[in-house]
Amino acid sequence: MILIVAEHADDRLKPISRELAVLGRELADDLGRTLTVAILARDPASLVEECRALGPDRIVTVAGDRLEPYDPDVWTAAVEALVSEDEPAFVLAGHTSTGYDFLPRVAARTGRPLVPACIEWQRHGERVVFTRPVFNAKMHMRVTPKGEGPCFVTAAPGAFPPREPDEAGSGPPQDGGEPRLDAFDVDLSGLPVRSKRIGRESAAAGALDLGSADIIVAGGRGIREKEHFGLIDDLAEALGGAVGASRPVVDSGWRPRDYQIGSSGQTVSPRLYVAVGISGAVQHLVGMQSSRCIVAINKDADAPIFKVAHYGIVDDLFSVVPEITRTVRALKGQSPPVGSAGSGRESD
Ligand SMILES: Cc1cc2nc3c(=O)[nH]c(=O)nc-3n(C[C@H](O)[C@H](O)[C@H](O)COP(=O)(O)OP(=O)(O)OC[C@H]3O[C@@H](n4cnc5c(N)ncnc54)[C@H](O)[C@@H]3O)c2cc1C
Repeated sequence: MILIVAEHADDRLKPISRELAVLGRELADDLGRTLTVAILARDPASLVEECRALGPDRIVTVAGDRLEPYDPDVWTAAVEALVSEDEPAFVLAGHTSTGYDFLPRVAARTGRPLVPACIEWQRHGERVVFTRPVFNAKMHMRVTPKGEGPCFVTAAPGAFPPREPDEAGSGPPQDGGEPRLDAFDVDLSGLPVRSKRIGRESAAAGALDLGSADIIVAGGRGIREKEHFGLIDDLAEALGGAVGASRPVVDSGWRPRDYQIGSSGQTVSPRLYVAVGISGAVQHLVGMQSSRCIVAINKDADAPIFKVAHYGIVDDLFSVVPEITRTVRALKGQSPPVGSAGSGRESD
């Protein structure tokens, strides 16, 4: 059995849970195992419907007041109990601040291997080989867990994008009809309280949620000045997307830290990623290369970004980007923005 530990917030599954279902289903089908999704929550019933759509063979719920808000000791104890009861071959969680917090603890407590930040897997005969980035994503390491399960794996966000509903082979992938629903009881009341949530701050209204954005337009150092970044904003607005940035843009103070995409920023996998004036350094690529369609605009035909781009425009961004924005607006019947960014061309 392959066990997924779903992540959720505000009674909704987080996008990483859908990505885990993709990896989990691939492993389950290839290894001839079943797929179970575990929901750990105060009231798991509110998430069952959403979990059904992930196509598991079984959903197991663990209910308890202490499971929310997230407490690493409580989640570790609950997952450890679940694992010792169900004996899964693989236990999957997101390589997120939550998943990479509790899953290594469970692995350590059970004395079993952990593969962190998995981006790919393959079968080599009887062995399952996982790929994970190392040395700041400059190299990839292939890892084979030893011995009988369970093996714990965190999946890098964006590495296993869910398929579009209209793609062949998509839809609930299980063939056994409705998943079985089980409740698992575990006594969490005696656990010591070692951490306390003192508050929760939401991002300011209108702030971006790059992780779940469908379209991202990202600007790099090629923009040259903060004032020119409006070109990126305009194109993103015309496309109905979010704005992202490379690290120099953030380091220069043109955009706040939460715009940064890459190894020390956010990992994203939108349907469309437009990279404007971004060279494609490996630290940037690791954060966006699993995007479904990458369009690069760069005046240097040898820029590494073109190696991962599906479409490339080799030209001056200051002439290309406003032209694309105008065309998109015209096609969508939108009026031009008031007070757009300066053109930034040398002649200005
Ligand atoms: C530990 C570490 C962590 C890092 N983490 C990250 C990270 O999370 N995210 C990240 O992005 N980087 C990160 N970096 C930095 C990374 O190595 C690169 O330096 C950075 O990604 C480069 O950003 P850039 O592509 O915007 O700038 P540059 O590499 O300077 O590229 C600018 C590009 O713009 C093009 N250009 C210039 N003018 C125009 C024009 N008029 N029209 C069209 N194209 C033009 C140029 O041809 C060039 O390709 C990290 C580095 C380290 C050491």
